[in-house]
Amino acid sequence: MGLYHYLVKKGHEVIPVSPSELPEFLMWMPGVDKLYNFESEPKEVQRLLSTCDLIFCLDFNAYDRTKHLSPFLEAATQPKILLDHHLMPAPVWDYGMSIPEKSSTCEMVYDFINLCNDNALIDLDIAACLYTGVMTDTGSFRFPITSAGVHEMAADFKRRGLNHSVIHEEIYDSWSADRMKFLGYVLSEKMEIFPELNSGLVTISKRDMSRFEVQSGDMEGMVNYPLSIAGVRFAVLITERNDEVKLSLRSKGNFDVSAIAREYFSGGGHFNASGGRTSLSFSETIAYFKKILSDIHPR
Ligand code: 5GP
Repeated sequence: MGLYHYLVKKGHEVIPVSPSELPEFLMWMPGVDKLYNFESEPKEVQRLLSTCDLIFCLDFNAYDRTKHLSPFLEAATQPKILLDHHLMPAPVWDYGMSIPEKSSTCEMVYDFINLCNDNALIDLDIAACLYTGVMTDTGSFRFPITSAGVHEMAADFKRRGLNHSVIHEEIYDSWSADRMKFLGYVLSEKMEIFPELNSGLVTISKRDMSRFEVQSGDMEGMVNYPLSIAGVRFAVLITERNDEVKLSLRSKGNFDVSAIAREYFSGGGHFNASGGRTSLSFSETIAYFKKILSDIHPR
């Protein structure tokens, strides 16, 4: 959305598209009413895709990350410009930047605007969108990838009048009471710690979710809790979805979870934050993970 506001200011006609529904905690973002969700409007997005001149692809680096949008994106013949920071980009892009050392794609959009000598065009809408992406991807500016440049970007936004605490509240203090109770339940009943393997596991079934009336967006951040326990350097969240079992992998320090996601769970991502999936059942996935944990844990 930050790139959207910038390109509109430059006089372009821009159609922002997300492959799926945004989580509730992002719905306040400026311009979100202009965003198409491919899952709810597939025909309209296909039509718009066929009429555009250029396609910017942000925060993913392989078509299959866009789920049902993937075949249409792949078939589109317009030049595609990548702005992304995940490891191992597919070799399918015409232009762009793939920089895993960057904290977030939003930091790269900021760089892109500056490279175009347009820093002066950054307004509070652009700043709010980009700050949100950097804040969430850096764990609120705490992960090692948070460079001096990231703080300089935040300082630039502050000087323009950005109210950062309102954004923190929108993202982190907008929980429903059910979600908070669900977190308490999950941490007390669904988290296992393996101290000798420096690892933690959280498992959430569809039944758990329906009991507390929470949505998949409410799982956001759950994977991080085991990492707050002394000694734990590897955390995994296994969630049962309608059509698959999804895994989120996180680590601290020099332990590459993207390699594990690729090798065992048909996934990928970043060195310290990755994801994947299995076609096994939920209970089979948990058993499989526990079986391989003694081989793959951080030493
Ligand atoms: P999350 O656990 O929050 O879903 O994902 C963590 C990171 O891994 C994100 O940057 C996400 O884009 C990436 N990721 C999640 N699932 C997959 C996957 O199946 N394949 C790849 N290549 N990356 C993934």
